[in-house]
Amino acid sequence: MKKSSYSSVSLLRNIGDSRHRAFNRVGVETLDDLVHYYPRAYQNRGNTRTLTEIGRLIDEGYDTLFSCVLTVGSSPRTHLIRRGMTLLKFRAFDDDGSCEITFFNQAFLKDTFSVGATFRFWGRFAVSHGTLSLTSPLFEVCSEPEKLAPIIPVYPLTSGLTQKILSASVTEALRIVLSELNDHIPQKVLAENSLATLPYAISNIHFPESETALERAKRRLAFDELFLASCALGMLGKRKRSESRAIMRKIDMSSFEDALPFRLTVAQTRALSQIRDDMASTNAMNRMLTGDVGSGKTAVAAGAAYICLKNGYDCLFMAPTSILATQHYSELSPLFEKLGFSVLLLTGHTGVSLRRRICQLACSDQPVLIIGTHALLADDVVPNALGLVIIDEQHRFGALQRSMLAEKSSGVSTLTMSATPIPRSLSLILYGTLDVSRIDELPQGRIPVDTFVVGESYRKRLNSFIKKQADNGHQVYIVCPAIEESEKNTHRNISNLEETADITLFDAELPEEKLPLKAAATCAEQLKIELPTLNIALLHGKQKQDEREEIMNKFVSGHIQVLVSTTVIEVGVNVPNATLMIVENAERFGLSQLHQLRGRVGRGNAKSYFILVSDAKNERALERLRTIKNCRNGFDIAQADLKMRGAGDLFAENGLVRQHGVSSLIFSASCKDCELFENATTAATSILSSDPLLERAEHSSLREACLNFINKSEGTLN
Ligand code: ADP
Ligand code: MG
Repeated sequence: MKKSSYSSVSLLRNIGDSRHRAFNRVGVETLDDLVHYYPRAYQNRGNTRTLTEIGRLIDEGYDTLFSCVLTVGSSPRTHLIRRGMTLLKFRAFDDDGSCEITFFNQAFLKDTFSVGATFRFWGRFAVSHGTLSLTSPLFEVCSEPEKLAPIIPVYPLTSGLTQKILSASVTEALRIVLSELNDHIPQKVLAENSLATLPYAISNIHFPESETALERAKRRLAFDELFLASCALGMLGKRKRSESRAIMRKIDMSSFEDALPFRLTVAQTRALSQIRDDMASTNAMNRMLTGDVGSGKTAVAAGAAYICLKNGYDCLFMAPTSILATQHYSELSPLFEKLGFSVLLLTGHTGVSLRRRICQLACSDQPVLIIGTHALLADDVVPNALGLVIIDEQHRFGALQRSMLAEKSSGVSTLTMSATPIPRSLSLILYGTLDVSRIDELPQGRIPVDTFVVGESYRKRLNSFIKKQADNGHQVYIVCPAIEESEKNTHRNISNLEETADITLFDAELPEEKLPLKAAATCAEQLKIELPTLNIALLHGKQKQDEREEIMNKFVSGHIQVLVSTTVIEVGVNVPNATLMIVENAERFGLSQLHQLRGRVGRGNAKSYFILVSDAKNERALERLRTIKNCRNGFDIAQADLKMRGAGDLFAENGLVRQHGVSSLIFSASCKDCELFENATTAATSILSSDPLLERAEHSSLREACLNFINKSEGTLN
């Protein structure tokens, strides 16, 4: 039977039932699956050294694995050292030295190492009494060293599979699959981005010709994932637009603008006009509004709500917590009252009779704006004529809530808001099929927050600064890193050399130095002792939602002066009277996270301060702290974050892993090359602009790959 990409791995040599099952356990059924089952690391055996070099490097303190080509110089002898334990020993040499090689319990190798035969050995060398020794190395027969593969893959295994079986099976599968591979990236895009072809990338990710070839393969595969995800999402976006149930007239916005206590910024006006166009279209709007904290997204959302109400339709505005919902309510109800519309608030705390009244009003002919939490998703909240759904911080809602909302709002315009600025290059991938409006400027006249980085030695001065702020009638946040579980020992003691590697597939993250953690509870206790006159409270994730809300409300109302918390303090909470935030163990926080935290202060008319406390010496941590000190724009910070940490964390924080599954974004998640991201999305956008559904013949394999991507993530794409 002729084998193809879609043949079962059971057709390969030496794959019986039990190995077939083992392959299935790791998700490999077809040959195509197998060639996409990537090594987790590599052994760099091609970098061979002479014994003299190895001796010198060990002297210099290098503790690594070395590769060395040696000729057997003495017949192997076996020694029985204790019951059931044999040693096999022989000497081997190269042009400038010799070395003793020992194997444990492998007496059967005696005949393999005949005098005069040459091998490439790979393992851990040791020097004692001036002689080099090598114990239980890996080895390959080697008459011509340059013919041996320089870099050997190390695959993730499961019981029943070995490195040898995997290498052999992948080699066999590649022979069949590579010849059938159609590169789904158009030739032109490959050329413009100097990318390797698909067969080259796939074969070099398994058996790299060199380290450079491995890098080229990784780069191509990272681009590939991003390009494919962008094309697939773009294509889906074009297809998915549902017909609008509520096409709206483009009304005159001047009375809305007049009712606002400020003039909209240029960016706000631009976003609002994009929304206005969308809402007048025959397709339902599906737009994401992004902008830094404090950029004024609420006013834009209010504008959208106004368009909806003015057209006679109802609007739902959903926020992830009742604090945020209440805050929106108190800001928007005076505005809409002025404009002659009623605004209602519905949360889990709303009493039964009020709730019934709200549901009645929703059913009336009068258009209403209902602001609330996921309580809005309940079956009895059925507006008479729903025209717009606004969702604040949509990634904080669960999948179920999102699907309930999607059902409720099919054919209805949706506006989602996010305060997490992300690099433009990632927006197509992170926001999927949504259209995006960016508010990339802050309203005029904000007093910038001063940022300082200080060490533990400033503790006394910090305390008196807290006191001073509180005495001046202001409030203070203190943020401590989440209390971590006892750190798991991730260093497996690998005794099996086969599993050992010296090149990882992705740059291994350097371990960060571990400084003693300041736990929120301890910090609060200590502060209560040191600043006894202040009203200090503790807020953390283990408290019940109700308790947390009560504490937050007391802080909002000014009753609590100093709030010590973990990172649970709400994104979006607006306490203009808070003028100081202190972040303990600041080295523990990511850039975007620090930026989000800074957004909690500087919201009022008084000068505000953001103080990062850290004794970190490590360059990466210092670089992060410097960036946050010198940079104010969230989009620039997100870009810097991408360069420092790779995209994986940004994917995770934005719910991407949950939405699309990690499996389709392996290489891009560890990619720190912003340009590659940009080029991949630009290439995708440009192809889609001339062929939105990829119907042209030259895009047929791209189309197929996209449909495949969509299929794999079915039901999870937004
Ligand atoms: P976010 O984008 O973080 O949700 P908000 O919508 O809460 O920001 O706005 C932050 C603050 O800025 C609010 O107090 C709001 O009234 C104010 N604001 C919004 N737009 C403007 C503007 N164009 N000029 C001045 N102040 C504004
Ligand atoms: Mg907000």
